[in-house]
Amino acid sequence: MIDDLPPLRDVVARYDLAPKKSLGQNFLFDLNLTARIARAAGPLEDATIVEIGPGPGGLTRALLAQGAKRVIAVERDTRCIAALHEISERYPGRLDIIEGDALQTDAFALASASAGGGAVRCCANLPYNISTALLTHWLEAAQWPPVWDRLVLMFQREVAERIVATPAQRADYGRLSLLCGWRTQARILFDVSPAAFTPPPKVVSSIVELRPRAEPLPCDLSALSRVTQAAFGQRRKMLRQSLKSVFAPREAADVLTACGIAPTQRAEEVDVAGFVRLANALSLRGD
Ligand code: SAM
Repeated sequence: MIDDLPPLRDVVARYDLAPKKSLGQNFLFDLNLTARIARAAGPLEDATIVEIGPGPGGLTRALLAQGAKRVIAVERDTRCIAALHEISERYPGRLDIIEGDALQTDAFALASASAGGGAVRCCANLPYNISTALLTHWLEAAQWPPVWDRLVLMFQREVAERIVATPAQRADYGRLSLLCGWRTQARILFDVSPAAFTPPPKVVSSIVELRPRAEPLPCDLSALSRVTQAAFGQRRKMLRQSLKSVFAPREAADVLTACGIAPTQRAEEVDVAGFVRLANALSLRGD
């Protein structure tokens, strides 16, 4: 028992919260596991936590029971809102429930407005169908460093491996790895078996921690995006070929050489620093 609220299975039955696949609903009922995830986001005493997709509130309760100063929870499923209000009554003034789409809600702005100088971070068992879109949106923010000091998020293991990949893990290394590696230090904390969820998904999940780099290697995000899109869009081709769409066809090889990259290399062999040099070369051309 972490609190005196009813067991989660009872909450789901009482509010008729049969999980919906369309909303990526795989609920966690195991209190030891939700406590472990909340601890991974700690210390929580002075922290305002953004939680995306609280559902019936298992992780929300763990975050509050472990002392989170405030939780700002964004949930799209109207059916969950009454259940979440019960939690809010148990922890007066510490749970803000926002009914809406996390992709359309700037929950970090709300969190930083009420954080009073304390830490802002995100801890969530994300709906898998929007998890990479959300992460990409947060990491492509114009303001950097961001207001948050850490993201502790559940992903499918395959996505987690792409997030933390370097050129040493070629098959997983791609645009998502580049963005994450450029702006954050990311690591997998632990795996979560399908059996921990209701209903169980088909694949293993992982909790990933991302901490923002205070000073990512300087480069323009849109230039980096253009270069990585062209390079990884044709990842089996040599860069002198795949980057012809970005640099003038006859210049691609020379730009690569000037950036210290062999024109015969492929995207998956080039690290973050190499792509930053290419992005800066593109920005210098001014097109
Ligand atoms: N946090 C709960 C848990 O761990 O048991 C539920 C996690 S479940 C994987 C994902 C949750 O995200 C669901 O409650 C779902 O309704 C919600 N969700 C799905 N799409 C969403 C969106 N666009 N914005 C906000 N919440 C969303």
